[in-house]
Amino acid sequence: MIIGIPKETCPGECRVGLVPQNVSALVKKGRSVMIERGAGLAAGHSDDAYAAAGATLADRSAVFEQADIIVQVQTPGLNLKTGDSDLAELPSNKILVGMMDPLANPEFAQTLAAKQVTGVAMELIPRITRAQAMDVLSSNAMIVGYKAVLIGASELASMFPMNMTAAGTLNPARVFIMGVGVAGLQACATAKRLGAVVEAYDVRPAAREQILSVGAKPVELNIQAEDTESAGGYAKEQSAEFIKAQQAAMADVLAQQDVVITTAAVPGKKSPILVTAEMVKSMKPGAVIIDLAAEKGGNCELTQLGEVVIENGVKIIGPNNLASTVATHASQMYGKNIENLLNHLITEDGKLNLDFEDEIIRETVVSINGDVPHPRMRDLLG
Ligand code: NAD
Repeated sequence: MIIGIPKETCPGECRVGLVPQNVSALVKKGRSVMIERGAGLAAGHSDDAYAAAGATLADRSAVFEQADIIVQVQTPGLNLKTGDSDLAELPSNKILVGMMDPLANPEFAQTLAAKQVTGVAMELIPRITRAQAMDVLSSNAMIVGYKAVLIGASELASMFPMNMTAAGTLNPARVFIMGVGVAGLQACATAKRLGAVVEAYDVRPAAREQILSVGAKPVELNIQAEDTESAGGYAKEQSAEFIKAQQAAMADVLAQQDVVITTAAVPGKKSPILVTAEMVKSMKPGAVIIDLAAEKGGNCELTQLGEVVIENGVKIIGPNNLASTVATHASQMYGKNIENLLNHLITEDGKLNLDFEDEIIRETVVSINGDVPHPRMRDLLG
């Protein structure tokens, strides 16, 4: 069983599908790994390091031709910029593992099926204990939650910690995190470490304890969300009435903040608007909003993906592919998630294990044998 790692082609993508540590672990198990020359450089890994780990260095076309399983960070389902050229190189009867935005781009599963390619969408790894070590969304969220705080700290024209100096006292920055899943919790912890006064809010009542556990203060609103969590542990979409009440209750809280980080996501849906243009007007000039939901439409009405919008002196930042800016650690985590998935897909004696009785396989395989068997994808395709 040959595992192939082509270099990522999406502009700005610095991550790589496996790091040398993963290669040596897979090689020890009897797998072969081929990697395109230079694939790991932007993530801090030289060709020599891959060769020392036991990988074969090859040209891009050889990786696509000879590997049985192709591993990408951004498959063409997610990489809408240069993905078509990757797709043209992908032969039939391969297995393609990576991120492919399956809920937003279900048509990609059909494209793979038509090509007789088996697609494994890493975003669909179920939230069950035995799949935790394959959960790329959690890995990604941890990284971007951290980086969002650093962007806030560098864009704010004040320091985060309180300082008592001979020239007077500098007040600490006030940081507010909206949506406290994995990214939000990491953002709370990072902002706290940098010395800010940190408050946070989430619709899920369980988030309160988690906010307190990292030393931040939960913001209580006098409104109750009805049903906040799906069976898979993801947030449920809230009603339009709830979102309106939430916006009204949140306006005063926002007016006091220096940095606001929004992370609220509902899988497969456009992100809810938590911060309206009107609310931005009530914020302090110089305040900074980092909208981590920008790729899914944004939590702030004014967010533009990949842009910095300045409104009334408030900077609204809509980062695109933030995880790639922390490519070494992001690749380390992604690579480990992939290594664990590959160990699940391939039996000890090197055979493929695509047993649909297994929840991990059933939930993540989006195309196989020319078909799209996944019920959720079929629903989306109509
Ligand atoms: P996410 O990325 O899906 O969403 C981010 C947060 O936004 C969530 O906490 C959600 O409740 C919140 N949100 C949604 N709509 C909102 C609104 N209108 N206002 C305010 N907040 C809103 O979240 P996530 O990182 O996937 O984490 C969600 C939960 O799942 C957390 O408790 C996390 O610890 C847990 N989790 C479990 C597993 C696992 O069991 N394997 C893996 C990852 C996360």
